[in-house]
Amino acid sequence: MYHSDDKLKEECGVVGIYDPQKNDKISTLTYFGLIALQHRGQESAGIAVYDEGNVKYYKEMGLVQEIFNAKNLELLKGNISIGHVRYSTTGESYVTNAQPLVVRYRGGSIALAHNGNLINAGKIRNELEDNGSIFQTSIDSEVIANLIARNYKRGFEESIINAVTEIEGAFALTIICEDKLVGVRDPYGLRPLSLAKLGDGYVLASETSAFDVMGAKYIRDIRAGEMVIIDEDGVKSYMYSSEKKQALCCFEYVYFARPDSVMDGKNVYSTRQNAGKILAKEHPVEADMVIAVPDSGIAAAIGYAEESGIPYGVGLIKNKYLGRSFIQPDQKSRELAVKLKLNVLSDSIKGKRLVLIDDSIVRGTTSGRIVSMLKEAGAKEVHVRVSSPPVKFSCYFGIDTPSRKQLVGAIKTIDEIRDMIGADSLGYISIDGLVESIGKNADSLCTACFKGNYPMEVPKLGNKYVFEKI
Ligand code: AMP
Repeated sequence: MYHSDDKLKEECGVVGIYDPQKNDKISTLTYFGLIALQHRGQESAGIAVYDEGNVKYYKEMGLVQEIFNAKNLELLKGNISIGHVRYSTTGESYVTNAQPLVVRYRGGSIALAHNGNLINAGKIRNELEDNGSIFQTSIDSEVIANLIARNYKRGFEESIINAVTEIEGAFALTIICEDKLVGVRDPYGLRPLSLAKLGDGYVLASETSAFDVMGAKYIRDIRAGEMVIIDEDGVKSYMYSSEKKQALCCFEYVYFARPDSVMDGKNVYSTRQNAGKILAKEHPVEADMVIAVPDSGIAAAIGYAEESGIPYGVGLIKNKYLGRSFIQPDQKSRELAVKLKLNVLSDSIKGKRLVLIDDSIVRGTTSGRIVSMLKEAGAKEVHVRVSSPPVKFSCYFGIDTPSRKQLVGAIKTIDEIRDMIGADSLGYISIDGLVESIGKNADSLCTACFKGNYPMEVPKLGNKYVFEKI
């Protein structure tokens, strides 16, 4: 039995490029795009290119720059390309699970790159396997490719629409099918996907920062429930689902996306800076200096400093060459990772009352380590301010949050968390404050990690909800 639904939590980034002419540089451009999306996944990466009926691909474990070089990019020539960066939290991190997935079927080849998490992949996969389908990977994305391939006789448009209406959960997809580039966003628009113009062609990417590096000009975001088909006639749009309310993931703004990206019309840096200003109004404190947990806390710390009038300063130095602390699989190595990643600038903070801004507290390990490092280095007081509300519910849609048992916001009160991390005071932005900082209607954002109001019914194991058992 295949049970991906409760354990595969993927954080990924996708790109896609369509050029009407064969382009020797298409894989290099895709490579640039993936480098700009590297923060969305550091475990594996891959590129697939379509060339006159054939799909060639290369994927490996590791960082984009480690995987690709002039030699292997040179082999990937064509006029359509997709790329993927992946990070999963499961033990199942091997190259077969890397993407793009390339599936050969009677009608040709499909290449698919998926960002997000499906919640009914296990069920569909079991049904497909009962009917004789064979799967090569343990990732939910293979179910999508399989569903598309099964219905190819209906034509690719219908078979993709059929597949994406069967799957549930979060998905932003770039697909090569026949001689077309296809982009799809799930009916809630949980994960981002944008469209840009590049020369005579088009680009799709999880974040607009990928367009900037390619020199592509942003056109618009793909809508929730929309499929776009890009070929020599340009871009065709189909709304395959329009009855759902949009629910773009709040955590993209809080932590996940790059600050220089624009997501559904909102620049991520500005939303974080706004969150810092709101946080200063909601949780003021007397202090000498505002410092950030680099890098994701910087924008909010600047906002907090502007609003409060307390000067912003640098109190922590980050080692730029280490990945995100979450990547360490167990608690002990996560603690070590904090030390390896951050060091205190003692001279700058000694004897001072500090406001320490972080974008989120998930397990509570990072903040606890940082507060004690600051105090050991001579900080007089450390007041922790968090630019997202307490994370109380696991994410089923592609952000790596652990089970509820490990979410400190779910199992402890704010006073208990303050004591656990050793802070002199602790304040989180309110949910309304976060929504205001993003500047979108609350109804168009997914706030389930804070409220538990999942936009759709989340997975059950047997008859029990997995997430309720804390
Ligand atoms: P902790 O409270 O120790 O679990 O870690 C919180 C820190 O991890 C914060 O500083 C965040 O910047 C970062 N963080 C939050 N969410 C994620 C995520 N989904 N993946 C990786 N890092 C994250």
